[in-house]
Amino acid sequence: MIRWTRRSFLAASAAAAVAPAEGAPRPPPPSEPPRSGYVDFIIVGAGTAGIAAARRLAAAGKRFVVIEAAAEIGGRCITDSKTFPVPYDRGAHWIYAADISPVARLAPQTGLALYTAPPGQRMRIGRRYAREGEMEDFLATMVRANAAIADAARKNDVACAQALPKDLGEWRPTIEFTLGAYACGKDLSEVSTADLARSIERDNAAFCRQGLGTLLAKLAPPAATQVATPVTRLGWARSGVEVETTKGQFRGNAAIVTVSTNILTSGKIKFELPKRHLDAASKLRLGHRDRVALELNGNLLGLRADELVFEKSENKATAALFANVAGSTVCTIDVGGSFGRDLASKGPEQLVDFAITWLTGLYGGDIKKNVKRQAVTRWAQEPWALGAISAAAPGAQSARKVLMEPISNRIFYAGEAAHETLWGTVGGAWESGERAADAVLKIFGRS
Ligand SMILES: Cc1cc2nc3c(=O)[nH]c(=O)nc-3n(C[C@H](O)[C@H](O)[C@H](O)COP(=O)(O)OP(=O)(O)OC[C@H]3O[C@@H](n4cnc5c(N)ncnc54)[C@H](O)[C@@H]3O)c2cc1C
Repeated sequence: MIRWTRRSFLAASAAAAVAPAEGAPRPPPPSEPPRSGYVDFIIVGAGTAGIAAARRLAAAGKRFVVIEAAAEIGGRCITDSKTFPVPYDRGAHWIYAADISPVARLAPQTGLALYTAPPGQRMRIGRRYAREGEMEDFLATMVRANAAIADAARKNDVACAQALPKDLGEWRPTIEFTLGAYACGKDLSEVSTADLARSIERDNAAFCRQGLGTLLAKLAPPAATQVATPVTRLGWARSGVEVETTKGQFRGNAAIVTVSTNILTSGKIKFELPKRHLDAASKLRLGHRDRVALELNGNLLGLRADELVFEKSENKATAALFANVAGSTVCTIDVGGSFGRDLASKGPEQLVDFAITWLTGLYGGDIKKNVKRQAVTRWAQEPWALGAISAAAPGAQSARKVLMEPISNRIFYAGEAAHETLWGTVGGAWESGERAADAVLKIFGRS
């Protein structure tokens, strides 16, 4: 039987559909972004979705402005190129489904290099790696867990934790971490079975040697973006929308709003969002995922470049190790879910202490003495993100569709939360941004 997949549909047509064809209109040459006044369209937020929307509008020759609150472009996809000898991604790092990803396809235009992620992950059990039989056992348990979640999703959209088979035994905490805290940023008790079951497999990954944040920033039409300019109010004008920023006011035909769901519900932007949209955003609140990056004195863990290692854990106090970023001695340790949230709320030192103690427990040696430099993220404390990735609450998968509904055909929401299958990814945010721009162009005309 032929199994049609998203990949098989998209792989053949993606080049034509997503990348501008040779000779297709390119973004207009840079000029100063306007600080206020009338433009065709206003994009709020220069993260992945905002950048994708901007490129679409630029290709259609529209006058628009992208207004970004932070000092840098990228949102939850930011590369720190200063702390370590190699660039390190503070948020998104993996380009999933790189063979059909529009971001991967556009990379050559920027002159940046992509390389394929090594396949598979390793599993640490105490001070040793899982044996082949143990790995088989884990993978079979994972298959059962995913099947139970998919089965429950077809009947009733309960919490994933409720759907898990009762007999996962010793692997339960590890399954809960990989599927919940790590993949969704939330414990499985807070995640909808339908949302997880619908999310597309994140395989065939690639990395950008200069950092995924660097790549995205290069894809942004720079002249149109005004950074360090928070939007404070979004409202209706006589024939369109009005956007107030800390530096001025814009009017336009329509606005594409790409801020995270946590920002949307935070009240930071005064905005009479219909209750339907507000409820949807509340059900798609961001989970927690944070990263401790440690530059070690040499390859202390004896791992290859870019290896991903999980632990057979006994409880929630676990993490994922990404070793030797791009062949360097920088290792990142990711925590998530309620454990990650509580740890990050205590402060950066506690995050670093946990990471070092955890690594030492798994690999031995004096890791603490061998840390040259360190960096941490606390995404829930980042004022313009307030969290990591959206995962729908039990029963709330349909909230993603609601969030995509245009408001009076003038305000369009885009972002990772507004993608039904690629939520929580750069690919999802990108597609969502493009869709919002296409919707705007359909209503207001392409030229
Ligand atoms: C730790 C971590 C690891 C991740 N790993 C991966 C990964 O490996 N691969 C992957 O595909 N995805 C990953 N993700 C998810 C990915 O980063 C997001 O899905 C994606 O970056 C979201 O893009 P977005 O455009 O929807 O939102 P955002 O990136 O949040 O963009 C919204 C923008 O709006 C701006 N903004 C907010 N408020 C205002 C305001 N009032 N005025 C103006 N601008 C405002 C923000 O500053 C931001 O730039 C990860 C996320 C995290 C946190």
